[in-house]
Amino acid sequence: MAERAPAKLILKRGREGRVRAGHPWIYRGEVAEVVGDWKAGEAVTVLDGQGRFLGRGFYNPRPSLVCRLLTRRDEPVDGAFFRRRVEAALALRREAGLAADAFRVVWSEADGLPGLVVDRYAAVAVIRCLTLGMTRCRPSVVEALRSLEGVTHYYGHDEDVAGKLEGFEPLQGWIGNGGPAEVEIREGSCRFVVAIEGGQKTGFYLDQRENRALVAGLAQGRRLLDVFCYTGAFACQGLVAGGTQAVAIESSAEALALARRNLELNGVPDRADLREGNAFDLLRAMERSGERFDLIVLDPPPFTRTKTALEAAARGYKEINLRALRLLTPSGILVTFSCSHHVSPADFEEIVRAAASDAGVIVRVRAALTQSRDHPVLLNVPETRYLKGLLLEVV
Ligand code: SAH
Repeated sequence: MAERAPAKLILKRGREGRVRAGHPWIYRGEVAEVVGDWKAGEAVTVLDGQGRFLGRGFYNPRPSLVCRLLTRRDEPVDGAFFRRRVEAALALRREAGLAADAFRVVWSEADGLPGLVVDRYAAVAVIRCLTLGMTRCRPSVVEALRSLEGVTHYYGHDEDVAGKLEGFEPLQGWIGNGGPAEVEIREGSCRFVVAIEGGQKTGFYLDQRENRALVAGLAQGRRLLDVFCYTGAFACQGLVAGGTQAVAIESSAEALALARRNLELNGVPDRADLREGNAFDLLRAMERSGERFDLIVLDPPPFTRTKTALEAAARGYKEINLRALRLLTPSGILVTFSCSHHVSPADFEEIVRAAASDAGVIVRVRAALTQSRDHPVLLNVPETRYLKGLLLEVV
């Protein structure tokens, strides 16, 4: 049987600028028409308003972001395509020395696979599909991942939000043979238990790996506060590297239980003090009681997922930064992050500057931080750089 020719998505005249500039997203309002026999989630050929070929991507009329280009070549989006893309992603990480026991194998747009995230945790690859089209290609993705040495099990961990937006049933379960509910990974001189079933995101915040190494390098002889600690990774790294004590704050009891186990696994539970609760309240209470720290890490969740809620988010970021700065000892260090891509590095600097001003402290920027290099950034796609941080020292 002859293969169906892919349907064609034709842009309105003059609306190809973003795509030509290297950004893969196409919004509904930019589309003139979709011609041919299309099905939601299948690849279409994208043409500009004058009929010139732009590339190919999955089409889904349901979300406003109706198409993300997968390729700018005239090639089929098939099993061989996925193998080539995954191989390229692996080659990049191997060359950079990042293909470790745990790392991000595929980072969506930045690896030419918009809508797909793959993280490796020891023998398990966790696969997250963010588009309907990607969920339909999951078998090809699993096939392509067979070249990952040492990986024996595949777990699908889709987000409910993406499922609603794109109209698919999010998979949260094993693909093929069932595997371990948790695995142990190595990161620097630490070991961590990662919950494959039921963990946040894909199980562990790999994007902070290089920043945790940085914090470890600063921890010797310092008293540490790890705010929004999840499973205690910053606290463990800091204590193993010689921190005198770590207080860790987290609102999720489940995450905190894993943090306790991670501290034990690394032989440092005695120097740790885990506190369950809302960081905003606990920081305020610590300020009142006069507790002070030499090194504070602030790694909050994205306070906003939408552009409109930006102001409220900015207030949240400012408040925690202000409180953290007040809890620092003289010449203390603050390592502060925002993982919301709606907050630009410049916005974030402005927010933290306002916090420093209100706290009445002068801080030196010892480093501007970003996500680990296994989460690469496409300069043409600003959304791929979502994590920004500042390593600040009170002077
Ligand atoms: N630093 C962690 C990752 C933090 S992710 C690491 O390196 O692994 C953000 C964490 O903040 C999540 O675990 C989430 O449960 C927690 N959180 C969200 N809102 C919170 C709040 N108001 N107070 C305390 N913790 C919160």
